[in-house]
Amino acid sequence: MSRPGFEREERIQFDLEDCGFETLALRAGQLRSGEGEHGDPICTTSSFVFSSAREAAARFDGEEEGNIYSRFTNPTVRAFEQRIAAMEGGDRAVATASGMAAILSVAMSLLKVGDHIVCSRSVFGSTVSLFQKYISRAGIETTFVDPTDLEAWKGAVQDNTRLLFLETPSNPLSELTDIQAVAAIAHEADALLAVDNCFCTPALQQPLLLGADIVVHSATKYLDGQGRCIGGAVVGREQEMEEVFGFIRTGGACMSPFNAWVFLKGLETLSLRMREHCRNAQELAQWLQQQPGIDKVHYAGLEDHPQHELAQRQQKGFGGVLSFEVAGGQEQAWRFIDATEMVSITGNLGDVKTTITHPYTTTHGRMSAEDKDGAGIGKNLIRLSVGLEALDDLKADMQRGLNAL
Ligand SMILES: *Cc1c(COP(=O)(O)O)cnc(C)c1O
Repeated sequence: MSRPGFEREERIQFDLEDCGFETLALRAGQLRSGEGEHGDPICTTSSFVFSSAREAAARFDGEEEGNIYSRFTNPTVRAFEQRIAAMEGGDRAVATASGMAAILSVAMSLLKVGDHIVCSRSVFGSTVSLFQKYISRAGIETTFVDPTDLEAWKGAVQDNTRLLFLETPSNPLSELTDIQAVAAIAHEADALLAVDNCFCTPALQQPLLLGADIVVHSATKYLDGQGRCIGGAVVGREQEMEEVFGFIRTGGACMSPFNAWVFLKGLETLSLRMREHCRNAQELAQWLQQQPGIDKVHYAGLEDHPQHELAQRQQKGFGGVLSFEVAGGQEQAWRFIDATEMVSITGNLGDVKTTITHPYTTTHGRMSAEDKDGAGIGKNLIRLSVGLEALDDLKADMQRGLNAL
């Protein structure tokens, strides 16, 4: 016995195997409710109804696939998961409430008491805090290493190491890690490699295809691209993603359908945006490098970047984030920032609007002075997430900063 109205959800299924990246960004996971709408519907419901008591039992039992409750699965969220999984070249993705929830879910679902993490010391500030202050409470210790030093990665691996974690290029210094080489070190030790692919996005770098086991995202950044929503994702093989899904479903750090819909829109233009972010950042990095008052520019697209060659090999573009050191210290850096008029003073990045920040006192403010020193984050460092404004206007705004030095 079945009630009417239960055959409506329609998922556009066609073979995506041979489709190009740009096609996946538009078509993978595409959802229609049965009304023939062209835009993906936002499925705003907390729970789902069943056609019979038997069907309800079968769903809860796991005997039959289908939606039960939006903390577990939701059609719009699933559309986002299928799309980002296809774009990263992974079997499956799990959407999360934030980028940090994605990283938390990896540690909580795949590690247990007594395990050990080796982590790049140049990762997002909250990632350092998460591992040091909270994951440690579960009896999981972390060793932080210089992300560019393969011997350091090797040397930090212990018998109980189960996870290697890195972010490349790093924030805010644009240091790169050789994903293929670190994946080999991880697999030698029977450990997993997770890569935070926030800065490059799959448009510029696909860590899973380079040997990483897991990709984590802060969708808040480039995947949205327009600074509207907080969200995240974990992508990988079915086996690990089932564990991550279990943690998110139970722990509750799930993505809302509205946010999933915003991210679906963001993914549609990701390739285009990343291409332009790269172009503006490259031009601006080269220009800044020639200005008096700038001591150093950190951007992998510059030929004098120590890992320029690795960036060319590993990435399809050099990304939109750069940082630079002004002559002087914190006072000069703050003066530069305050003299700009157009770019937004905010800790966020990956937005179509250019953002400027002083990592030492904001995004990385919670790190100890020692850790900041070790990571090379100085008081005179400014980070720019280069947006899509006209290049001349960006230069003019940077010139205002320079004039104030
Ligand atoms: C912002 C960010 C995160 C955290 O993401 P949220 O969505 O803010 O939780 C993690 N990694 C990197 C590299 C980030 O930039």
